[in-house]
Amino acid sequence: MSDLRELYQEVIFDHNRNPRNYGVLENANRKAEGFNPLCGDQLTVYMLVNDQGIIEKVTFEGQGCAISTASASIMTEELIGKTVQQAQEIFDNFHTVVTGGDCDVEIGKLQVLTGVKDYPTRVKCATLPWHTTNAAINQQDEPVTTE
Ligand code: ZN
Repeated sequence: MSDLRELYQEVIFDHNRNPRNYGVLENANRKAEGFNPLCGDQLTVYMLVNDQGIIEKVTFEGQGCAISTASASIMTEELIGKTVQQAQEIFDNFHTVVTGGDCDVEIGKLQVLTGVKDYPTRVKCATLPWHTTNAAINQQDEPVTTE
């Protein structure tokens, strides 16, 4: 698929090859599963949220394409130390940008993933980890699916 090459910036390659915060979080108090049947991406997000609503740790594991893996990896780096409220705001902004909307807010490292906006099927790969995290925050029992 030639469209992928344009999306694969070096940062994405790097996060895909060497995902940050990868693995099961033993003392997690939030957890959710996500699945993108269109691409075959699946992942589980583990979170440790403290009494003040601050995300102390986030990890993920699973199997997915480069975009979903890189997005999950970058996401974990963004979320550690943030409140669940901030996490939802970051997700809203990211979602707005990758679906082609205007957003005045600086989205930092997530910027590398915004190339997906021209490829609707890839938007699902990039947002799957975020939808899954949202479900974990809201302690939703049903697995998340993009379809
Ligand atoms: Zn994918």
